[in-house]
Amino acid sequence: MSPRSTIEFIFFDIDDTILDHKAAERAALRDTQSQLKCFTEVGISELQDVYHRINAGLWKEYGAGRIDRAFLEESRFSWTLRDLGIDQIHSPTFRQTYMQLYEHHWQWVPGAREALSEIHKHFPIGFLTNGFTEIQQKKGERFDLYALTDAYIISEEVGFMKPMPGIFEFATRQVGFAPEQILYVGDSFISDIQGGASFGWETAWFTRENDAAKLKKASFYFNDYKSLLNYLNIQGY
Ligand SMILES: [Mg+2]
Repeated sequence: MSPRSTIEFIFFDIDDTILDHKAAERAALRDTQSQLKCFTEVGISELQDVYHRINAGLWKEYGAGRIDRAFLEESRFSWTLRDLGIDQIHSPTFRQTYMQLYEHHWQWVPGAREALSEIHKHFPIGFLTNGFTEIQQKKGERFDLYALTDAYIISEEVGFMKPMPGIFEFATRQVGFAPEQILYVGDSFISDIQGGASFGWETAWFTRENDAAKLKKASFYFNDYKSLLNYLNIQGY
């Protein structure tokens, strides 16, 4: 497969596309569990599973506008404790400890850093991410993403979350290309691939998915960054 020759601009998702958010979440919970006495009786995989399920559900509600940020930030910790049968009095400490450790564990997805700097030589690039402004800004600073672009777009600042069309419309207008000239590289089928495609963007899905019907929805799919560079006809990598 080779890319549509119309591609002029490439947007990247951040979490679990170029930075390994899931690994940071798991490692932060592991460290939180070993640091806080209230988790002594809880198995680490149970803590990781419960937190992940609750957090994902709350983000869905937040994305749909049914809850606000403060409710999400409070509830993902207090509800995790509730479901684990731990006194919710520990919620503020849990929240503070986890957030510090989460940041500490941020890291690149393997190959993403090298691929970005190579792709940047051939295409203008940008970042389009769902998340809270100051946390996503901190990722941009820590990993030097701002040095690669002026288009660093965070859902909280725009007021719409992917897959809502409003955020793709905002990003398209900001970079000044037609939708079909933009390629979006992301890991989420619903937010990135369906969201981008329904606004007319080309899509490159970073995934290990096997479902052929879903894979067909993406213009291209890959699970290591060398394949993405090949797809973009970027040599010498
Ligand atoms: Mg993602």
